[in-house]
Amino acid sequence: MNKKITIAIDGHSSTGKSTVARRLAKELGYIYVDTGAMYRAVTLYMMRKVFVSESNFNEEAILRHLPFVDLEFKFNDKTGKADMYLENENVEEEIRYMEVSKHVSQVSAIPEVRRKLVEQQQEMGKEKGVVMDGRDIGTVVFPDAELKIFMTASTEKRAHRRYAELKARGEEVEYDEVEKNVKERDYLDSTREDSPLVRAEDAIEFDNSDMDLEEQFEKILKIAQDKIQEVNS
Ligand code: C5P
Repeated sequence: MNKKITIAIDGHSSTGKSTVARRLAKELGYIYVDTGAMYRAVTLYMMRKVFVSESNFNEEAILRHLPFVDLEFKFNDKTGKADMYLENENVEEEIRYMEVSKHVSQVSAIPEVRRKLVEQQQEMGKEKGVVMDGRDIGTVVFPDAELKIFMTASTEKRAHRRYAELKARGEEVEYDEVEKNVKERDYLDSTREDSPLVRAEDAIEFDNSDMDLEEQFEKILKIAQDKIQEVNS
């Protein structure tokens, strides 16, 4: 039988990781896990309780409520994608709002939050045959992943992509606000003490500033297929 592998895709914000990862998983018949959605859902939960807002960051309350945060991915037949559920409510759209993006990196820097989510991620990927995207997949969640990709692109390109995405969804945002958020998240994600965003030594770096989605996907698919073949030979 064909042995399955673990594919870790990490990188900066808005590099198109999830688009490539989702397509790759579909093509290979693997499971896809968007770990950013999990950090976003925890953040949304804490925002709803008003432990996190523009003027408040109550870490003690976050830690107290963390054990009760109930997350689950459920497959959506209509879109063919897994949606994020928080306490049995579909929050797939809400977690992508700019308001959540503004607070998510601060919540994600809390070690207890990471511990809880990393445990769930390791459980989801324990049978291999998984493509997981995030910031610490190749370094912390699956340091033994057979294939690690690190995606990056210029800040400007990423901010423009993100802005177009939010606009297409009908969100009222200014370009400057989006660019500021992309920069801020990169900074916080890369400088936090627990599991910072860094390229794993054995990760293949992919700068997609001047690559379209199709070109990028074809290249990554080829790398993945070669790796699977190598593992099975
Ligand atoms: O991938 P996405 O941009 O949706 O992730 C949102 C945020 O969640 C990141 O900016 C980061 O703060 C956090 N995150 C993380 N570790 C992961 C995935 C996401 O800290 N594995």
